[in-house]
Amino acid sequence: MSAPVLSIRNLSIDYIGADTDFPAVRNVSFDIMPGEFFGLAGESGCGKSTIAFAISRLHRPPALIRTGSQILLDGRDVLALDEAELRRFRWREVAMVFQSAMNSLNPVLTVEQQFFDVLKTHAGMSRTQARARAAELLAMVDISPDRLSSYPHQCSGGMRQRIVIAICLALNPKLLIMDEPTTALDVVVQREILGRIDTLRQQLSFSVLFITHDLALMVQACDRIGIMLEGELVEVNDAQTIYQSPQHPYTRRLWASLPRLTGAPMAGGASA
Ligand code: ADP
Ligand code: MG
Repeated sequence: MSAPVLSIRNLSIDYIGADTDFPAVRNVSFDIMPGEFFGLAGESGCGKSTIAFAISRLHRPPALIRTGSQILLDGRDVLALDEAELRRFRWREVAMVFQSAMNSLNPVLTVEQQFFDVLKTHAGMSRTQARARAAELLAMVDISPDRLSSYPHQCSGGMRQRIVIAICLALNPKLLIMDEPTTALDVVVQREILGRIDTLRQQLSFSVLFITHDLALMVQACDRIGIMLEGELVEVNDAQTIYQSPQHPYTRRLWASLPRLTGAPMAGGASA
């Protein structure tokens, strides 16, 4: 058995208020294995993004991670990293595709410049090296190198999304976090992008933490799924079990609230 890439134990995160503290994440524990496509599902407000930000150490006050919480990435204590260690950690160890990522590119910079910013700052690449690496990364998400000279507004939503993913893969992170990355895209494009990610994680052997409130999409993409309810992780199971014989009453209620799915989950994690 190999060791997990990500190991979370007893993670509790409060939002500190003037009068009361709001417990957004309560005593959450789970592992993600090397190469695994792991999903975190649950209704809006259940704490999914709060967990994603904590793993990337991008959480800010009033979020407070409670004592006793542990996040290990490849065995390293993420919550103990200092500023210098964090600069090496981000992009190299963990990269995060944010909610509404298709709008997270800088509108006044060309695609090439946005790759260069990351590759120069975090890998010390020259312009020539960065251009070659950027073309290689674009090819991985099926985008022509001609696009290097484009501005974001000249690209479709799905293309901007794939560019953001390519930038996130620039330094070969061990874990790619995608927080509702495709919500703004139509269903066909969403599936194409998830299919592409699935192929890449097998080629490049990174792990994925995929967050969405869309359980049907998640079952199609993931190996294992965690279900969150009001800050707690109430069930973790393989996608097939979540789909066919959900164990927790809340998981069953989530399914009941959705339009009926026709057919079995598509190829990928769920049927592997
Ligand atoms: P999800 O991503 O599952 O929709 P979030 O992690 O964004 O949920 O939020 C979890 C809970 O924490 C929600 O009730 C939300 O209102 C609350 N919350 C999120 N950010 C803040 C904040 N900056 N201050 C106070 N409460 C917050
Ligand atoms: Mg969220």
